[in-house]
Amino acid sequence: MKSGAAVQSLRNTVQVDLPGRAYDIVIGPGLLADAGTQIVPLLRRRRVAVITDNAVASLHLRSLEEGLAGEGITAVTLSLPPGEATKCWAELGHCVEWLLDQKIERGDLVVAFGGGVIGDLVGFAAAILRRGVRFVQIPTTLLSQVDSSVGGKTGINTRHGKNLVGAFHQPVKVLADTDLLETLPRRDFLAGYGEVVKYGLLGDAVFFEWLEKNAPAMAAGDVAARVYAVTRACEMKAGIVMRDETEQGERTLLNLGHTFCHALESATGYSSRLLHGEGVAIGCALAFELSARLGLCSQEEPGRVRAHLKAMGMKTDMTDIGGDLPDADAMLGLMAQDKKVLDGKLRFILARSIGETFVTGDVPRDMVRSLLKEALQHG
Ligand code: NAD
Ligand code: MG
Repeated sequence: MKSGAAVQSLRNTVQVDLPGRAYDIVIGPGLLADAGTQIVPLLRRRRVAVITDNAVASLHLRSLEEGLAGEGITAVTLSLPPGEATKCWAELGHCVEWLLDQKIERGDLVVAFGGGVIGDLVGFAAAILRRGVRFVQIPTTLLSQVDSSVGGKTGINTRHGKNLVGAFHQPVKVLADTDLLETLPRRDFLAGYGEVVKYGLLGDAVFFEWLEKNAPAMAAGDVAARVYAVTRACEMKAGIVMRDETEQGERTLLNLGHTFCHALESATGYSSRLLHGEGVAIGCALAFELSARLGLCSQEEPGRVRAHLKAMGMKTDMTDIGGDLPDADAMLGLMAQDKKVLDGKLRFILARSIGETFVTGDVPRDMVRSLLKEALQHG
């Protein structure tokens, strides 16, 4: 076991400087044990409501409760079934009624302890409870540490689609304990990595180069590398969110790879055939391929992107997805339902190089169709 000082020296803080709603993202090992110290300055009384999922609860809830108890904070806890289906109206109602049962007041704090599903659901419950109570995110998956816990988007799914109901509600603190990633199944870790690599591709070539060298060690468990990668990803997302909180412009770049990804997720029925981050990785590779075909970036760039994804043991091509996929025209139809479609025109994030991307609605449909046709045949 490392000493407290050694653990603390591995920690970083990223500040999200939104006017009137500034908060810190603390990243590093051992944060559950220090949760009390981290949270106590935010409390009016030493009692919090924690909402988590059953898988996270069985692995890590005790450590969190002990960390809180260290500062005399008691926790009431609600644990929900794990999985995307939990981000629904019924569980939202369940959370809100439970928080009211627990007499959670305007000045109290709600803790979202889990992956992106819990973060989105509980953040939204906090946003509407008594017209808004403060909440802390303790993200437990790589995806939630680098993406969903940062930026204040909260919400649920409806029968019309994913994330269609929600609110912008920023947390008052994020504690990203990198030790939690040790219990994450490898497939979920790599899916989260799809979003990490996206940051390098969309805006930081130096970070992408760092990942090419260090991501294998990071995936194998190197703590310093994990802390650095989560920190850099959070810095990038925080920077973009500070400049464009409500996605009027630059925040759209965070959707690199997502136009393809959403079509693939829809084609696979949002099932375990394809995890979101896996679709993002495949989508990023396709976005670079499309950029090269349009003469926007050099022909070498897509190869470099795919080589890195392959080296990480990730799904890289559409042919890596098990089972049948719809044909190119049907895939185009699915892409036309993307939320970025404007006046019926598909919009893509395309690249001039690794680390330099932009949004455009100016892509000939035939070009996308032929790309999809080939990708469906041999990746
Ligand atoms: P998730 O919350 O479903 O977690 C994945 C699985 O890992 C679950 O089964 C969970 O129980 C388990 N788990 C969580 N932490 C664990 C740990 N430390 N050890 C072992 N198992 C653990 O999924 P996710 O990938 O974290 O998040 C996906 C969700 O995030 C989607 O609903 C997506 O829409 C949302 N999201 C939101 C934003 C945003 O900006 N708000 C951004 C990206 C994604
Ligand atoms: Mg995403």
